[in-house]
Amino acid sequence: SKDSGRNSFRFFNPAINRHMLDHISLISGMRKALQEQQFSLYYQPKIDLRTNQICGLEALLRWHHHEQGFISPSIFIPLAESSGLIIQLGEWVIQEACRQAKHWYDTGLLQFSIAINISSIQFKRGNIEQLVLGSLDASGLPPQYLELELTESLLIDDSDRLVNTLSHLRSEGVHLSIDDFGTGYSNLGYLKKFEVEALKIDQSFVRKMDDQSNDAAIVRAIIQMANSLGLKTIAEGVEDASTAALLRSLGCTQAQGYYWARPMPAEEIEIFCELWGKN
Ligand code: C2E
Ligand code: CA
Ligand code: CA
Ligand code: CA
Repeated sequence: SKDSGRNSFRFFNPAINRHMLDHISLISGMRKALQEQQFSLYYQPKIDLRTNQICGLEALLRWHHHEQGFISPSIFIPLAESSGLIIQLGEWVIQEACRQAKHWYDTGLLQFSIAINISSIQFKRGNIEQLVLGSLDASGLPPQYLELELTESLLIDDSDRLVNTLSHLRSEGVHLSIDDFGTGYSNLGYLKKFEVEALKIDQSFVRKMDDQSNDAAIVRAIIQMANSLGLKTIAEGVEDASTAALLRSLGCTQAQGYYWARPMPAEEIEIFCELWGKN
């Protein structure tokens, strides 16, 4: 109506508008970027804390913008989610990760699974089951080489559809883990409902384990609970030797972080894995 129009005009704020324009241009930029293949996947190794071997890779999306350089996924993923573009972007990620993983499977590099991040919105709006199984099929990658990192916000929904989808993917051999564990919900009942195999301990706890804060106690509690439920634990954001040692002493099974390696492009992670194997 005329009234509400006038109201919204009254609250018109140039700063907010500027922000919105930036968002709109980023969203249309993402559409273009998908067509022009400005996206790529970087890979970060997961390290087995007992054997010191590489036990997995996580694929992380990168957007190399022609003018603005690299744009962080923490900026463009939320925009992709709110605009619905996450469906197409997520499709590209799954297909590209399967294609790359199949190549590494053929060359013998792949002794472990490749993890990809799945947004809850992508999961709820897209047909994940068909997409994942279709991409595995099209690439020829055996399902046990693929792992999906899901968030707690997805798993609090206990709809039959979700339970069925995840248990079907599991029965095909696809691995499931929970990302950013500890930051979401206090009701952990969902851990019994879904066949997840690993908890990724959020880096906000891991990074501050060293000082006197409660974070070390939280990490210890998560590891104990995971152990008693037969789940693996993967600590994120490990940046130094002392944190790695502390995690190992607490019985954490795997870790990731700049201490070992940053995420890197496919050609670089290949070399990294080869050199690591020789050590
Ligand atoms: P995430 O899944 O929790 O990924 C871990 C983030 O921590 C990555 O940031 C990684 O580069 C960074 N990281 C790893 N080790 C360290 C460390 O030792 N120190 C510090 N400070 N950071 C470390 P990145 O790549 O910027 O991704 C940010 C978030 O964007 C991801 O968080 C994930 O939620 C989302 N994301 C990335 N790629 C995808 C994707 O393909 N699909 C979806 N849906 N989300 C994605
Ligand atoms: Ca992740
Ligand atoms: Ca995470
Ligand atoms: Ca995160």
